[in-house]
Amino acid sequence: MEPGVLEEFDLTGKSAIVTGGNRGIGRGIALGLARAGANVVVAARDEARNAAVVKEITDLGRCAVAVKCDVTDRRQLEDAVGAAVGEFGNLSILVNNAGMLGGLTAPHETNPEWDHVFQLNLKGAMAACQAAYPFLCAAGGGKIINISSAGTTLSHERAIAYAASKAGVEYITRALATAWGRQNIQVNAIAPGVVLTEMQAVMADETIRARVLRNTPAGRAADAEEFGAIAVFLASPASDFITGQCLLVDGGVTIKTMGEIYLRD
Ligand code: NDP
Repeated sequence: MEPGVLEEFDLTGKSAIVTGGNRGIGRGIALGLARAGANVVVAARDEARNAAVVKEITDLGRCAVAVKCDVTDRRQLEDAVGAAVGEFGNLSILVNNAGMLGGLTAPHETNPEWDHVFQLNLKGAMAACQAAYPFLCAAGGGKIINISSAGTTLSHERAIAYAASKAGVEYITRALATAWGRQNIQVNAIAPGVVLTEMQAVMADETIRARVLRNTPAGRAADAEEFGAIAVFLASPASDFITGQCLLVDGGVTIKTMGEIYLRD
């Protein structure tokens, strides 16, 4: 392979914030960005877990800092952005990964977590984009990666709040990509299928696990660390002409075919 191709993925000298970067998909992304050369701010609420991921990154010989941050609090988001700029001199990459599933309720029931799901998944992501914007402009441009869900493409009658909030995340992805394109800011989303994290505790149930794997063309769930390289692509110059898109990373779960509907259990 020509060395020039891999240079397009190099993040050396760039600084990134990963919200919810202390476990699961966020940790996988934080490690991936660091491996590609980025300095990383791990921004989440649990300080011990933040510190553990920072240690993993510094053990790789890369730079990272932990910032205790609840993304539902705009002030704390501004502090996290300030920490990136204060520590590393710039901010070029924002990954809005922090999220929650919230209550799974029947459509006719009130979901007591509805407001919190929206506040965290949608409002938190929007507020982080707004906090990061002046610094991305100051850096001459940058990348925003929002974590959506394959659930927006399918439907799940017990996860309406969750999927509706993620549909909102995809909408702000397109809107901000349009608004901030001239500032050289690319805004994209990743929509994961089933990933083995704490959020997917349900996968410990053998019946559910077997059902999910049967219905996923890849025949498996994803490992959270697989999202590192995907985020590197969307954070790097390799994807400079991609903006406003949502990349499904779902093992094919959203490409149901007529063959599956008619022929398979
Ligand atoms: P986890 O539950 O494993 O991790 C959630 C992360 O979000 C933690 O780091 C947590 O840290 C952080 N977080 C939660 N609330 C807040 C808050 N108020 N402020 C800051 N950080 C917060 O989830 P996953 O890794 O599975 O999910 C990551 C993202 O991927 C989410 O947006 C999720 O919706 C999405 N996703 C996941 C899928 C899956 O199958 N796992 C599928 C599709 C999408 P702390 O508690 O310390 O704050």
